Amino acid sequence: MTAPQPLTEAMMNEPPRTARPKPLSIGPGPAVLAFDVGGTDMKAAIVDRRGRLLESVRVPTPLDGERTGARVVEAAAALAAELGQRHPGVRPAAAGLLVPGHVDEKRGVGVFAENLGWRDFPFRERAELSLGVPVGFGHDVRGAGVAEHRLGAARGFDDVLVVTIGTGIAAAVFVDGALRTGGGLAGEIGHDRVAEGPICACGGRGCLEAVASAAAIARRYTQRTGTAVSGAREVLERRRDGDLDAAETWDGALNALALGLSHSVALLAPQAIVIGGGLAEAGEELLRPLRERLDGILTFHRRPLIVKASIGADAGLYGSALAAREVVGAAGAPAGALA
Ligand SMILES: [Zn+2]
Repeated sequence: MTAPQPLTEAMMNEPPRTARPKPLSIGPGPAVLAFDVGGTDMKAAIVDRRGRLLESVRVPTPLDGERTGARVVEAAAALAAELGQRHPGVRPAAAGLLVPGHVDEKRGVGVFAENLGWRDFPFRERAELSLGVPVGFGHDVRGAGVAEHRLGAARGFDDVLVVTIGTGIAAAVFVDGALRTGGGLAGEIGHDRVAEGPICACGGRGCLEAVASAAAIARRYTQRTGTAVSGAREVLERRRDGDLDAAETWDGALNALALGLSHSVALLAPQAIVIGGGLAEAGEELLRPLRERLDGILTFHRRPLIVKASIGADAGLYGSALAAREVVGAAGAPAGALA
């Protein structure tokens, strides 16, 4: 870091050295609403005709057992009304809605979400009724992956994985430039068996997510030491301070991640693997050893670039806005009406 210097006249006449980053845009088109539902929070945003996110809001996800799906749609309608009041000049032509779990994009149905309680909930139909506009519906991780692929760190790669590591682990898989959905089950790399244990929430054993998600790193450290921690970030801090249990927990997670990713590399030969989600905030402290370990497993395989996601926490909202644009087309008319 350089010490701050007093501004001289010459410096003031120079163009700024660090240009302010251009605000992210999904491109010109109709204004849309975007909703991104997570296990803890749901986010909503209004996007203008320039494709910029004008405002986003976050509320707790209304958890209510089997009724959670209906409550989420009610909350989305209330947030849409709130955003509409604050931006009366913006008339959304469509909405995007992303949810976690097993999602059937084609039928517009949330099939199942372990922590959220719904089963076969017809999100697209209910949201269209409540919001009064066509709805683009999809999976949270795949939606965030689409945003990274169109606008972020995965841009320009035809064969690429966008891996989200947070409470769980999942990937958006792009092959020959197209997203694979696999009936809503493609990219579930969090439930790839990489160890003999522990038991995973899915009922499997030794799943990647049970060893290497941000939540698993914190949980495994606590199980090992009896010391409660606030999250994976604290485990990393303890490791830096020389805590051997923290170092071994982190090491186990890295080994499991490298092994899990090596399976994807063998199968799909991606040009790049983009890492997002909470754990990606560790940056090179995560990515450098991950590259080294993956390199140690691979032989003649294509070696993917391993890079951090660039959109960050709003990737789901941008992906949701892109899904909304998809249903109305660029001109703002329902996509079917253009044919
Ligand atoms: Zn599992």
